[in-house]
Amino acid sequence: MKPVNPIVASFEESAFSLITQLALKEQAINLAQGFPDFEGPEWALDAAKRALLSGKNQYAPSFGILPLREAIAKNYDHFYSLKYDPKNEVVVTAGATEAIFCTVAALVQPGDEAIVFEPVYDSYIASLKMAGAAIKVVTLKAPGFVYDSAEVEALITPKTKLLILNNPHNPTGRVATQKELNGLAALAVKHDLYVMSDEVYEFLTFDSPHIPLATLPGMRDRTVTISSVGKTLSLTGWKIGWACGPAALMKVVHGAHQFVTFCVAHPLQVAIAEALARMPEYVPQFRKEYRERRDLLVPGLQQLGFEVLTPEGSYFALAVCPTGKSDWDLSRQLIAENKVATIPTSIFYVKSDEGNRLIRFCFAKKLETLKESLRRLEGARL
Ligand code: PMP
Ligand code: GLN
Repeated sequence: MKPVNPIVASFEESAFSLITQLALKEQAINLAQGFPDFEGPEWALDAAKRALLSGKNQYAPSFGILPLREAIAKNYDHFYSLKYDPKNEVVVTAGATEAIFCTVAALVQPGDEAIVFEPVYDSYIASLKMAGAAIKVVTLKAPGFVYDSAEVEALITPKTKLLILNNPHNPTGRVATQKELNGLAALAVKHDLYVMSDEVYEFLTFDSPHIPLATLPGMRDRTVTISSVGKTLSLTGWKIGWACGPAALMKVVHGAHQFVTFCVAHPLQVAIAEALARMPEYVPQFRKEYRERRDLLVPGLQQLGFEVLTPEGSYFALAVCPTGKSDWDLSRQLIAENKVATIPTSIFYVKSDEGNRLIRFCFAKKLETLKESLRRLEGARL
């Protein structure tokens, strides 16, 4: 038989799936894969029940139903005064993951270079590899994980086309400062780069408001902004996300989307269009509940002797492994001995071995789950 595509064949099963399976087998609490162990808001679920019976069960328009695109655009305007034309600047996708794939496919091809920051979300690398782009990596250094524009600029060549940013950041929990964002935006303008800004944790900032990169001078027309109801409405299983950007770029992103999924679940789009209208009243409570979860888990772990870096955003917190123990060793040990699963962060690194020293806890969990996890972690061998 002829060889299959070696790039795709090299993709291994995601550590998120592997650890989740291990957690199930070991009956460990899953603080590994990033998903809530509670339901999304009841009004969103009710809207979905009604939508299923409303006769909207055939294909949706490929860009997404207009009421949903309008609701998405309205929220960008409401929260950030960022204006997108719902008719041609918003594409609804199967989660942020499809938006990432389609954006990368739309922007780069073999011969182009893209810059990513590590720790890096796995699907950026996979998408870039499938598009055939060369990948340049800037390592954000623990414990500060600061964005250093000089380091980015040192990697820019005439072939560099795309910069990929994730803010708030998985897995570090960092929220980039205005100054860091200004530095990155200035580089994008100076070197005429596109930016894919993955902002799926946009409403999970605890200490400062979220700043979409597209709101910075010169950025709206070179940035594709991505988000997802998986995070925003705690409904990761619905897999509905979107990409927004200038019409000329979105036409191409849509070109990819058209041949990846064509359109995504029609009744869920109807439900989300309705649910997104409640975001302005929902977000303060959502953020408060997540802050409570962070403020339970992080000091709780610290009291148990874990060296934890307090996250400013997202629903993840990193802990430093004791000297001599790798991330995989500690993660496996905590599953086997304490029945608590975490993610070894080396899976987020492609260049440096800094990830071998860190594990990731997810706090998108009920307070009882977090309390029980802390109880189980008492006396953990550190
Ligand atoms: N980007 C980041 C940074 C994520 O953490 C995730 C999911 N955890 C995604 C994208 C994917 O989002 P979705 O489930 O909507 O595809
Ligand atoms: N993004 C989620 C995380 O970081 C996992 C999503 C997935 O399993 N692919 O845990």
